[in-house]
Amino acid sequence: MIQSKSAPSLFDLTGRMALITGSTRGIGFALAQGLAEAGAAVIVNSRQQDAVTQAVSKLQALGLNARGAVFDVADTAGVDAAFEGFDRDGLAIDILINNAGIQHRQPMLDLTLDDWNRVINTNLTAAFVVGRAAARRMVNRGNGGKIINIGSLTSEAGRATVAPYTVAKGGIKMLSKAMAAEWAQFNIQANSIGPGYILTDMNEALINNPSFDAWVKSSNPAQRWGRPEELVGTAIFLASGASSYVNGQIIYVDGGWLSVL
Ligand code: NDP
Repeated sequence: MIQSKSAPSLFDLTGRMALITGSTRGIGFALAQGLAEAGAAVIVNSRQQDAVTQAVSKLQALGLNARGAVFDVADTAGVDAAFEGFDRDGLAIDILINNAGIQHRQPMLDLTLDDWNRVINTNLTAAFVVGRAAARRMVNRGNGGKIINIGSLTSEAGRATVAPYTVAKGGIKMLSKAMAAEWAQFNIQANSIGPGYILTDMNEALINNPSFDAWVKSSNPAQRWGRPEELVGTAIFLASGASSYVNGQIIYVDGGWLSVL
């Protein structure tokens, strides 16, 4: 994917196949739509068949090239089976976005090991498992590839009541660096995006909580929440030839939040 092209075509994803995990709604859906609008064929994923069917239909109604794959990223056997299905169907994934994630809010003193493991498995271990499956195939094909791991402000800073999420997202930042260290030689670029607080279902309770909403607006120099589509530009950059020598980085898309006191 090394390119010497004019500026617009540096970002062109025509002919690329992208898998975006957890993409039936929220950030994942916006990224799937954005990559498809940039020319990629996209594979939409979640655990729910109905939601996948609906999301694929929405993208197809926009004239975009989309298909679905239902699997749980935290189920290693399910991930392997999904990739074997892609192999059988001749779907060669050039771009992987490890986006699927969950939240669990509870003080650590009350947190059970089951809840800790569930968040770590979904938000961190799954990114390794799905990333490994994708990268093995990228290496075998010899054409390089792109992996984008979705981090968070908690890739950089702690916050009370979200310990396993914070640990997982800190791990995501370092997973991208570990992937870069091992896979750059195969022309695979692995980077992270760290979104700020974004208006999605995951944050519904926080958005509807006036004091939390006020805290977001007063702490962030942009004085507002982010929108899922505001992550698309960075994702296209990291998915395209424009970032052919960018590896192991995390780019925060947070309205400037992490840059201020
Ligand atoms: P949403 O809850 O809106 O969407 C999550 C998506 O992931 C859904 O499609 C969901 O579908 C899917 N999903 C969840 N668990 C699994 C699983 N085990 N296997 C496959 N798919 C799964 O979340 P957001 O869009 O808000 O978040 C997306 C990513 O961005 C997450 O990694 C999150 O941590 C991160 N992020 C979000 C921020 C925000 O402010 N919203 C800020 C920083 C990071 P289903 O449940 O039907 O399987």
